[in-house]
Amino acid sequence: MELAKIEVKTDGGPWCEHNMPCSVCGKTVAVMDMNSGTFEPCWECQQQGWLTVRLPRWLARWFRRRRNDRLWPCARKEAS
Ligand SMILES: [Zn+2]
Repeated sequence: MELAKIEVKTDGGPWCEHNMPCSVCGKTVAVMDMNSGTFEPCWECQQQGWLTVRLPRWLARWFRRRRNDRLWPCARKEAS
């Protein structure tokens, strides 16, 4: 996996160029929130209700531990 390239433009206000793909659909480029420095899903996915959220540390750990759990269909491999 390649790291995202981020180029912050200082001319003409807070704006930046990057090549980070949308973490939801992966088809379009994500939207970077310059205030928090985090990536939001692309505009289209945001319209469908997708958001990037910050979880409390304990909850983030809980999710990470259950990443391979069968409870999470998104983490499961596609059944062939
Ligand atoms: Zn998207």
